[in-house]
Amino acid sequence: MIACPSPKCSSPNVADLPHYWQSLPSESPLKAKYAPPARPKASYWAAVAGIVAGVLVITGGGVLLGLLLIVGGAGWGAVVYKAVQWAEAQRAAWESSHVCLACTGTF
Ligand SMILES: [Zn+2]
Repeated sequence: MIACPSPKCSSPNVADLPHYWQSLPSESPLKAKYAPPARPKASYWAAVAGIVAGVLVITGGGVLLGLLLIVGGAGWGAVVYKAVQWAEAQRAAWESSHVCLACTGTF
């Protein structure tokens, strides 16, 4: 049995955050407060475009510029990847959270 971790509350009246959130009516102000983190809009097209453009520039003779484009594209891809990983971790944390129905704290 889980209880609220707040020392002033310690109520055993806690709910799964995802279930609680789903049961809220959409007009409830709590619906936004307890909403899950947004799904990341992962877009690798800029990274891929940079790498493709870099290869094209290199085959056209612009080795240095081409390498810069490839490195930039790969770096951007890594940034997008990190952002996706972070957002997935936030989402997983939300899915395993609980809400206290007495003091409305989440944990
Ligand atoms: Zn509480």
